[in-house]
Amino acid sequence: MQDSYSMSKFFTIDIHTHILPEKIPFFNEKFGYGGFIHLEHHKPCCARMMMDNTFFREIQSNAWDPEVRTKECNLHHVDLQVLSTVPVMFNYWAKPQHTLEIAQFLNDHIAGIVSDFSTRFAGLGTLPMQDEKLAIQELQRCKKIGLKGIQIGSHVNDWNLNDEHLFPVFEAAQELDMCVFVHPWDMMGKDKMQKYWLPWLVGMPAESSLAICSMIFGGVFERLPKLRVAFAHGGGSFPSSIGRIEHGFQVRPDLCAIDNNINPKNYLGKFWLDSLVHDEKMLDYIVNLVGADKVALGSDYPFPLGELEPGKLIHCMPYTDDTKKMLLSGSALKWLNMEKY
Ligand SMILES: [Zn+2]
Repeated sequence: MQDSYSMSKFFTIDIHTHILPEKIPFFNEKFGYGGFIHLEHHKPCCARMMMDNTFFREIQSNAWDPEVRTKECNLHHVDLQVLSTVPVMFNYWAKPQHTLEIAQFLNDHIAGIVSDFSTRFAGLGTLPMQDEKLAIQELQRCKKIGLKGIQIGSHVNDWNLNDEHLFPVFEAAQELDMCVFVHPWDMMGKDKMQKYWLPWLVGMPAESSLAICSMIFGGVFERLPKLRVAFAHGGGSFPSSIGRIEHGFQVRPDLCAIDNNINPKNYLGKFWLDSLVHDEKMLDYIVNLVGADKVALGSDYPFPLGELEPGKLIHCMPYTDDTKKMLLSGSALKWLNMEKY
């Protein structure tokens, strides 16, 4: 473990942190159907995230209270947290107008915190991605209320990220200079993964690879070279599968190269990955694969599958100060298109 001085000498941005409002309206009642998350504050500083009557996750006050988060950031030497909602709040399955209403509620909440603590937090919005018109409308509003980008799921209902319904939203994000954070959710194969937390351990890394491959093969990066996209969890299983993916592209272009005939390896270094891989060799591998300027600290704060001491893995690496600086803030600043405060 590095000493406190050497940790604090690096300006540090955590691009992958989640936040919720302390009070969430009972959307089930409001909209007249179920599936939405609400919070049960059953004791001080703790709440249960409930989906209808089913328990989803226990959270503490660091999931909603910016003062508590600030204290913990000080403890971990994190200077700036990028806030995004919890993926279970995407609600892409709901009626688009209702998803929009919830997105506006969540986005206003994040924008309020960013405006109250502008040197501590930057914000990403959520959009009703199942409806491109409403999504673009809310994206434009996110820009106006001071958010730096958006967080989206690794797929949107039956659409992968190459789907033509989603392209106009990506195009608008590029135009509006809004970055995109892709987070796995609604994990594939979850019905076959009832035990051992497998949707999180197996499904999530596969979802991230699905998202990256869909954007590469679908030509999204090719058509939108200025779109700044970051993928959670070090890109999931994508980095370790890139050899197989390229080989597949070469031997079966009839299957892989139908929408974009450029080698998938050509896109390495054109999108960002967060650093959340929990393993020194894997972190070193992704840094070599996409470049230190495309790997940014992401901790999944405040959740237990995240890096519990944000930045610890990067600090423990035998890297030069310049490389650490890049991983801890340089690449995040480029992704966010922000200047250092
Ligand atoms: Zn996360």
